[in-house]
Amino acid sequence: MHKLMSDDLHGLSDRQLRARRRRLAESLEHPETALPGSLVRQGRRCSSAGCRCRRGELHGPYLYLAVYVGGRSRTLYVPAALEAVVEEYVGVTERNDGARDEIARINVELLRRRALG
Ligand SMILES: [Zn+2]
Repeated sequence: MHKLMSDDLHGLSDRQLRARRRRLAESLEHPETALPGSLVRQGRRCSSAGCRCRRGELHGPYLYLAVYVGGRSRTLYVPAALEAVVEEYVGVTERNDGARDEIARINVELLRRRALG
């Protein structure tokens, strides 16, 4: 669904806002896959002193997930066998978070109009 900016919400009627809010709520999927973070590919150095990685030929690149949960962030290695599923979880989470954020902005607009409920 195309994302509206806050300013665009002002141009919609209460009814249009409620319809949009309902569509956004219906677009939420698989809450059990929540995994908020960003995926980054990085090369790594190993611990072996004579290795080519010491001359800049890094190992990898490997996939990592920078995840923020419970008030703290950490970076987790994503094994190759789990790349597809992690990418799927992160993508679903981004879409769900975007939809929830827009629902919140619609509710703020409806409250501003004294039309919440
Ligand atoms: Zn190495």
